[in-house]
Amino acid sequence: MYDRNHLAHRLRRASAHADDRPFLIHGAGWRATSYGTFFHNAERMASALERLGVHPGDRVAVQAPKTQEMLELYVACALAGAVFLPLNTGYTPPEIRYFLSDAAPVLFVCDPDKLDALTPVARDCGVAQIRTIAANGSGTLREAREAEVPGYDPVPRGPDDLAAILYTSGTTGRSKGAMLTHRALASNAETLCDVWRFTADDVLIHALPIFHTHGLFVATNVTLMAGGSCLFLPGFDADAILAAMPKATALMGVPTFYTRLLDHDGLAEAAAGMRLFISGSAPLLAETHDRWRDVTGHAILERYGMTETNMTTSNPYDGERRAGTVGFPLPGVELAIRDPETRADLPQGEIGVIEVRGPNVFAGYWQLPEKTAEELRADGFFITGDLGKVDADGYVHIVGRAKDLIISGGLNVYPREVEALIDDLPGVLESAVIGVPHPDFGEAVVAVAVPQPGVEITEAGILAGTADALASFKQPKRVIVLPELPRNTMGKVQKAALRQDHAGLFA
Ligand code: AMP
Repeated sequence: MYDRNHLAHRLRRASAHADDRPFLIHGAGWRATSYGTFFHNAERMASALERLGVHPGDRVAVQAPKTQEMLELYVACALAGAVFLPLNTGYTPPEIRYFLSDAAPVLFVCDPDKLDALTPVARDCGVAQIRTIAANGSGTLREAREAEVPGYDPVPRGPDDLAAILYTSGTTGRSKGAMLTHRALASNAETLCDVWRFTADDVLIHALPIFHTHGLFVATNVTLMAGGSCLFLPGFDADAILAAMPKATALMGVPTFYTRLLDHDGLAEAAAGMRLFISGSAPLLAETHDRWRDVTGHAILERYGMTETNMTTSNPYDGERRAGTVGFPLPGVELAIRDPETRADLPQGEIGVIEVRGPNVFAGYWQLPEKTAEELRADGFFITGDLGKVDADGYVHIVGRAKDLIISGGLNVYPREVEALIDDLPGVLESAVIGVPHPDFGEAVVAVAVPQPGVEITEAGILAGTADALASFKQPKRVIVLPELPRNTMGKVQKAALRQDHAGLFA
């Protein structure tokens, strides 16, 4: 019966005749939840959704801890034809108010610890039903599931129906709800399963949050489609990951996972039997790639994607995984480098805005037709807002976000070029280059640099290191040394915060 529901059918196909196989493996005791139990629970959860008044097309918003129950709710939404809407666990009640009023869900699921604070918010927004999921999975949503029996008849859903809305992280302005169809999620996971060679023998270390595309769709959907297992960890914990590696085959992480793991003894031994290390969501420094290979013998496979497009490029499974690049467009995905003003294709090697077209691309922003028309064009291309180039061998390089481009004295400065140079200076761990308002130049180039542990670096030293290597308009006017860069939960450097902190530097 699952075959009438585009996404649920594809998530269940590999395990349909393997109910005893472990899907989720939890905690230190390696307690396993089988595929049979997981899907039967999801079916019961879907029945519970119907009983709570959730109809096909309705939104189900959830801000809850990373639990099996939250994944059951995701699959239950697909089965019931509802739209799953996960929210970052760090959002405060005023932020939640915005999402609930914008998306108008029928049901809101939250952590019981936040129930008192969030109930009035949900009520004000007209949300009919509120249920809870606690960190241990207990709560009123599980109680509702327990009252139902397995054997739900999935609501028919086609490829164009909505499966989820994920709000973008919104570093500028309000965040927007990216509408993701059954086709976009299913086709992307099928492609990734294929190109990364995931099978039922894989055991993936899952330490990412499940309110974001990386942990929810890339990690979870790929495992389900392969019929493999997830070692389901509540979050990043270097010791837990190292302990898991000998029983695992693959790790998906953000770059900070890799830099932090490199600081731990025993990595080489732990990683010896692993098949694959994947990185994404933020740029992986070439230096981290090289150090990882030196210590473990593995080349990290870096890929690129975003909430709106799912994954779009990947380094090859076989062949050179080129450090500092995000590899080639995935099968079925078209990628173009275009002039930001005219949208004309640029010659190979030139930097422009990355545009993407394919079955992986979202269906538009929730209730924002004008914003959608600006970014998702009538010809099917989505203007990502990322700047990049394609090298002579076809590898895609990400240069940064278009909004991070610095225009100093009327000339374009690509932060990545300056960062790469500073990162290579002795004693520098990493850097972020930003544009700061300047009375003469409009914007001035400012570098924020982080020293390697135990090393001292100075503004004068860095300025001297860049002086001969860069045209003067690209040279930092000031260097700020910080112990670390501000990052969000997905490891992305928060340049908007840095710009704000240093806005008055030349005032
Ligand atoms: P999100 O929608 O939160 O997944 O953020 C997507 C953005 O993260 C992209 O538009 C890129 O700017 C950035 N990103 C994702 N993967 C990479 C990568 N491998 N290298 C550089 N930037 C990346």
